[in-house]
Amino acid sequence: MAYRKIRIVKGDITKIKADAIVNAANSSLLGGGGVDGAIHRAGGPDILNDCRAIVARQGGCKTGNAVITTAGRLPAKHVIHTVGPVWNGGDNNEVTLLANCYRHSLELASRHHLATIAFPNISTGIYHFPKELAASIAMNTIVTYLEEHSDIEEVILVCYDDENLRYTEQYYNQHI
Ligand code: ADP
Repeated sequence: MAYRKIRIVKGDITKIKADAIVNAANSSLLGGGGVDGAIHRAGGPDILNDCRAIVARQGGCKTGNAVITTAGRLPAKHVIHTVGPVWNGGDNNEVTLLANCYRHSLELASRHHLATIAFPNISTGIYHFPKELAASIAMNTIVTYLEEHSDIEEVILVCYDDENLRYTEQYYNQHI
């Protein structure tokens, strides 16, 4: 059952021991604020070195896409960097692009034979995506993926703030 593989926790994603944690990166892949800054600070320079190599190879990461690097000093094994959409009113493909972030991150985990993956609430910080809508998109995309792929054993949703925690738990309890 897909829903049994989902865990919702409150906390700091840099502390999570999973096969991969997901970073809400920006398209430059060269670091930023919020969860991105926290991951690079805690993980050390190896993560940025891998990001630079990816940039040299493919020139950054488009919104909705994902790339994978080492996790450096973090307890996780890998960091999957995905670029969420900036909320711009809702008529600019934001919903599809946010769903793409979750789906592409999960696909990348599968391709690398990673069984446990932790997500932050992508786009709900500096990128201002409405948190309630983001929680529903995250949950529906994850559940759909888990129903279609049995290789992922656990998806952890790591909520940093109370509002994201409330919306995520509420959506899970009411709809999943
Ligand atoms: P974005 O640019 O995609 O909006 P942010 O990093 O600004 O990215 O915010 C995304 C979410 O990550 C926000 O809900 C924020 O509260 C959360 N966040 C910030 N720091 C951490 C952390 N250390 N662990 C988990 N989530 C975090």
